[in-house]
Amino acid sequence: MTIVNGSFPTLQSNYLFAEIARKVAAFKEANPERKVISLGIGDVTRPLVPAVLAALHKAVDEMGDAVHFRGYGPEQGYAFLREAIVKHDYKARGVALESEEIFVSDGAKSDIGNFQELFSKDSIVAVTDPVYPVYVDSNVMAGRAGSFADGRWQRIVYLPCVKANDFVPDFPKTRPDMIYLCYPNNPTGTALSRTALQGWVDYARREGCVILYDSAYEAYIQNEDIPHSIYELDGAGEVAVEFRSLSKTAGFTGLRCAYTVVPKNLQISDNNVGKIALNGLWNRRQCTKYNGCPYIVQRAAEAVYSEAGRKQVRNVIVGYHNNAARLSAAVKDMGLEIYGGVNAPYIWVSVPGGMDSWGFFDRLLHSAALVCTPGVGFGVSGEGYVRLTAFGSPEDTMEAIARLQAEC
Ligand code: PLP
Repeated sequence: MTIVNGSFPTLQSNYLFAEIARKVAAFKEANPERKVISLGIGDVTRPLVPAVLAALHKAVDEMGDAVHFRGYGPEQGYAFLREAIVKHDYKARGVALESEEIFVSDGAKSDIGNFQELFSKDSIVAVTDPVYPVYVDSNVMAGRAGSFADGRWQRIVYLPCVKANDFVPDFPKTRPDMIYLCYPNNPTGTALSRTALQGWVDYARREGCVILYDSAYEAYIQNEDIPHSIYELDGAGEVAVEFRSLSKTAGFTGLRCAYTVVPKNLQISDNNVGKIALNGLWNRRQCTKYNGCPYIVQRAAEAVYSEAGRKQVRNVIVGYHNNAARLSAAVKDMGLEIYGGVNAPYIWVSVPGGMDSWGFFDRLLHSAALVCTPGVGFGVSGEGYVRLTAFGSPEDTMEAIARLQAEC
């Protein structure tokens, strides 16, 4: 008798972070006097900004009085937040979207993990390599990935992002049904130019694929030629879903608020059901399985779009950018090649010749008590790189830089 979803036991264990934790614990035990600084964290460290705190306090008080108390809210999010998103994240950049195309949620991770449910088990998925693991594992759980061999799932199409292609994936030889793109990218910190992203939109239109565009790091974009939304590109509304999050934009990793854009014009053709709009399907899915992001959190998210909120979160991001710029300069001074770190909080470092990702991890840990993330943990094409993050405090970042300089 088969009872358990047989795909779950095939998931690969999260070896990367467990192994990092094991190595760091062993180092600390052997060197109790040394302060370990992590340049590996993928979480923000700065607190919520005052505008967000004020909105939270006000909303908490509302919940305690019978007149303003709110129970279940709309599954798709309150109109006040959906309208603020449309106005500030899209209209301000010349993109016309309707509130009904925005679905507010408790996180991009859950939305990205859940969205694949709208596709058949037979559909083919393409991901970049290296990759944010949620895209792969959620498809493994759904039984869409096939078997695992030599670090890769046999039914997943991998798009290597390496120095030779400037970390811009080439179009696949096998046509996928869904393509996960994450830009600005975790882990490489690289961004896609307008021309490169238009190329992907045109490819998806030509081949009839859906692009699942993860833009969790949009707020870190600095360069003019980098689009902030995939909908800035011609025809993207017919082929792309966009995932955004307040986690890295406004320090909401603990508070939890994100949103997914599913344009009404986005339809897929299917031999059984004909043409079908994903907006209606996602709405149906959310209304069945989700009861909405908490009211107080949505009020806090609304405050991010206020004039004061926008200024305050921008200042926090400037702080992370400064960390990234200083770290990048220090690593370059070590004679190493780096990528990213300008339009993203991540710096992708090419490790010294003759070493692999884990070898360089060990060297930084033992010589400088610094923790990085070995690139190979994000996929086969990440071998030979490590990821550094700019999310530390300015003090820790400066201390890490001093140690890197001593290391040169
Ligand atoms: N997408 C990417 C690429 C991420 O790196 C992360 C978090 O690290 C997420 C999504 C998750 O975002 P959220 O906190 O909204 O679930």
